[in-house]
Amino acid sequence: MQVTTSLEPTELAPAWMARALGVLYGCGGSLALVWTELPHSHQGGDRVVVAMALTAIALGLVLVFGPTDRLPMWTFHLIIAVIQVVISVAYVAVGTPTNDIRLYYAWATPYAAFFFGRRAAVGHSLWTAACLAGSLVLIDGAPVVSLRVWLMTMGAVVAVGSLVSIVAARMRAGRDLLHTAATHDPLTGLANRRGFAVALDAALDRRQDGGSVVVLLVDLDHFKLVNDTHGHHVGDEMLVELAPRLAASVRAGDLVARMGGDEFAIVCEDRAGGMDLTELLTRLDAVWALPVALEAGELPVSGSIGVVVCTGPDDTAESLLRDADVALYRAKADRRGSTVIYDPSLRAGLARRATLDQALRGALARAELSLAFQPVVDLDTGRWVGAEALLRWTSPELGVVPPAEFIPVAEDRGQIGPIGDWVLDQACRQLVGWRADGLVDGDFAVAINVSGRQLRAGFAPRVVATLDRYGLPPRAVHLEITESVLLDDSRATTEALAELRATGSPMLLDDFGTGYSSLSYLQRLPLEGLKIDKSFVADITISPQRRTLVSAMLAMADGLGLDVVAEGVETQEVADGLRQLGCRRAQGYLWARPESAEVFAHLLAASRVPPANDHGSVIVGGRPR
Ligand code: C2E
Ligand code: MG
Ligand code: MG
Repeated sequence: MQVTTSLEPTELAPAWMARALGVLYGCGGSLALVWTELPHSHQGGDRVVVAMALTAIALGLVLVFGPTDRLPMWTFHLIIAVIQVVISVAYVAVGTPTNDIRLYYAWATPYAAFFFGRRAAVGHSLWTAACLAGSLVLIDGAPVVSLRVWLMTMGAVVAVGSLVSIVAARMRAGRDLLHTAATHDPLTGLANRRGFAVALDAALDRRQDGGSVVVLLVDLDHFKLVNDTHGHHVGDEMLVELAPRLAASVRAGDLVARMGGDEFAIVCEDRAGGMDLTELLTRLDAVWALPVALEAGELPVSGSIGVVVCTGPDDTAESLLRDADVALYRAKADRRGSTVIYDPSLRAGLARRATLDQALRGALARAELSLAFQPVVDLDTGRWVGAEALLRWTSPELGVVPPAEFIPVAEDRGQIGPIGDWVLDQACRQLVGWRADGLVDGDFAVAINVSGRQLRAGFAPRVVATLDRYGLPPRAVHLEITESVLLDDSRATTEALAELRATGSPMLLDDFGTGYSSLSYLQRLPLEGLKIDKSFVADITISPQRRTLVSAMLAMADGLGLDVVAEGVETQEVADGLRQLGCRRAQGYLWARPESAEVFAHLLAASRVPPANDHGSVIVGGRPR
């Protein structure tokens, strides 16, 4: 499962290892010096021993204090091997009796065992044995005696070496465990945030020789919902299931890490400059193709992805992660399950969203929000049969902000709940007022827009309570939901829709045709009607294809027993065309733009006396443009 390649920095020996080796030599040399000076020593004052001891001390000092940072490992092995040869040659040259030479080997083998593991220890022991045997034979010229000495020396060397090797193996295992714990996520076995940082730093270092680095942040969609609905253990199970899928979707050498929660990160190195990002994204897409099989059953899964491609030499790990985060944020805001590649304009968009978020806080209390109403017209009779309530925001600092801009911010930052409640309340209040003034009859309905977030935040009971408070029947309020809500067929959304349906207020699918979902929801969901998006309606008089499309939509809705409202009707020709196609209801600037409650009340009053127009069709209370 692990695809970590760049986490283990084993090619270079760290400085501490050189220092430790230096200390070892220093101590060994000092011991040798002391030994030669001891009263019982046979070699007291031997010049060669002193010289070799001083050499060892000097080498020790160089290793401890010298510029030994990041020396390659093989250098250490070479140093040991060369020293052993030098010592052997020196002893042979002066013909020193054999006893002292053991001193010098005594510290070489433990060192090898300690630092380089069993294989290196065996290698060094063999090398030591060869050097020692060579020098003994050459000095003594009497193999039998020498063999005994040789065997004793080797016995001591191997015993010490093995002992140290066992201790060292344990210490190394402990260190590896610590290293793994520090750089890996225990749940999924992937690298963790720290491991990711190490790999990204290494990739950026290597990039200085050319190539580029791509960072992807992947955030699972609606993971909180999985946790809330099925419990944290199911959420964990999902993460464990997904980790190998993600790891399998990248190339060998790329690194997948779990950054925490439901966020994963991927770092891909592109040394030759030939990486195919599209291919990588396609493979990542396939990760979501199959549902995950969990204890709780099969659950669909998807993720939003933010991508940043490192281009400039100034890019740092920190800046790349920040940019990937901006792209991810955008992806989540656009549509769950989408992928956004970072470009600097995203940052400007983010700043604007932050400004809006700030300004929107308290906008309700400061009475900066209001509702505009636009009539829904019966195309056959010209009667105004309802109105859509549309939210308006005039901020003292930012001026008039269009709903398409501030509503996504309100949804994203959790402000849509109270705002949506207020819209519902105000819409009902106006309707009650118009009823009381005799401007509308009992069939006149007011439609409000309900966003996905609002829906899942327990909106249905509030609809019931508000209708109760104003003494309105359920059918007096229509609830418009957008297709994007239906893209999410999680249990929470399905339950929220069923709850909403149970209120008795009709549900309409808004902006029909602009979503990406399958049409099967039309029959699966408790819908009463749909609103054909203005992008389809506007062109029916000039484009035969559009006309055919709208005609097909009407036929399908008819077959499913759904009411249809055509949106965005701006000309009489379009209204007539719709009527010919069998559309019964419409909305658009042809009759009225969204207007304040007061203006709308005047228009309502005027609409009650329908004047006939030149075409013989009826524009009730309208203001043809
Ligand atoms: P929508 O629900 O599809 O609303 C219809 C939009 O089309 C409105 O834009 C309306 O002003 C515009 N429109 C109506 N007739 C015509 C026409 O003949 N031609 C053209 N070009 N446009 C026309 P608006 O008011 O800017 O609202 C945009 C969207 O904001 C709404 O689309 C709705 O999705 C959302 N929205 C508005 N108020 C609320 C609200 O209270 N809550 C939520 N959740 N969303 C809201
Ligand atoms: Mg609407
Ligand atoms: Mg619409």
